[in-house]
Amino acid sequence: AGVLVDPLKRLDNFIRLWQEGYTGFVRAMELLEEQPDIGDRPSAKALGAIAGDVSFEDVSFRYGQAGPMVLGGLSLKIDAGEFIALVGPSGVGKSTLCSLLPRFYELSSGRITIDGKDIRDVTLASLRQAIGVVQQDVYLFAGSVADNLRYGRPGANQKDLVAAARAANAHDFIMSLPQGYDTEIGQRGVRLSGGQKQRLTIARAFLKAPSILIFDEATSALDNESERAIQQALLTLAQGRTTIVIAHRLSTVRHADRILVLTEAGIVEEGPHDLLMAQEGVYASLHRLQGRI
Ligand code: ADP
Ligand code: MG
Repeated sequence: AGVLVDPLKRLDNFIRLWQEGYTGFVRAMELLEEQPDIGDRPSAKALGAIAGDVSFEDVSFRYGQAGPMVLGGLSLKIDAGEFIALVGPSGVGKSTLCSLLPRFYELSSGRITIDGKDIRDVTLASLRQAIGVVQQDVYLFAGSVADNLRYGRPGANQKDLVAAARAANAHDFIMSLPQGYDTEIGQRGVRLSGGQKQRLTIARAFLKAPSILIFDEATSALDNESERAIQQALLTLAQGRTTIVIAHRLSTVRHADRILVLTEAGIVEEGPHDLLMAQEGVYASLHRLQGRI
């Protein structure tokens, strides 16, 4: 598999933007994720207010020119407000599929639309404004808890931060940190657990309030309390949004309107939990074997 971006050029951009301060930092974090040639078409328009219908149409993708095909001709329609769980073996392209929606990578072929608009015809800024990505710790940086939360909405005031943190079940643990919202996290600050980090990224997503939510669930084990807190926060956050969860936990999968089982052969099963269990297929056997996905 090929590396897409000249690493030195990327590092150079990263350092330059880092030096530009906070806004530069945010941009730099995004750059680390994207190809350099992804940009706005001259005719690109702002996405505007959307319902949140998402459609992947015959989508194929490979990393680099010579890399193996990760997704080969995948089609998938997701209704506005629907809650989708993607499950399947690691390496089949679940994370890749999700990173194509905010255009972190460009499709090899096919198209993706939001409310019927090809995502290549809208501005990147408006596209990414509409999509919230929650991952365990990729986007947490050295700084205070408040700084990290404001990444979701740069103008947010303290009241907004607290409301978002409460909704994400993060407020109580934040208040128990030495300086509360001003506590430094990251390399020279307080070390957070995986579950705490995930709740901070959920709080950030509450602040951003995107129409489309992508949630890449932590693969690592969480303690029961964190897992329940995250589960609750996710379900609240998902209300009224199109939600795609890359799910590793049964508790999440069960709540999905539709579970998609993705394997190297593409989407091999789809439906709600009870239906897939009754089908006695891949999902049911995964479920029986592991007790979790
Ligand atoms: P999943 O999320 O289902 O575990 P991924 O989307 O992470 O799968 O990965 C799909 C395939 O693409 C894997 O073979 C992985 O090694 C490869 N891959 C993922 N990211 C990159 C990358 N940045 N460059 C090259 N190959 C990659
Ligand atoms: Mg993944």
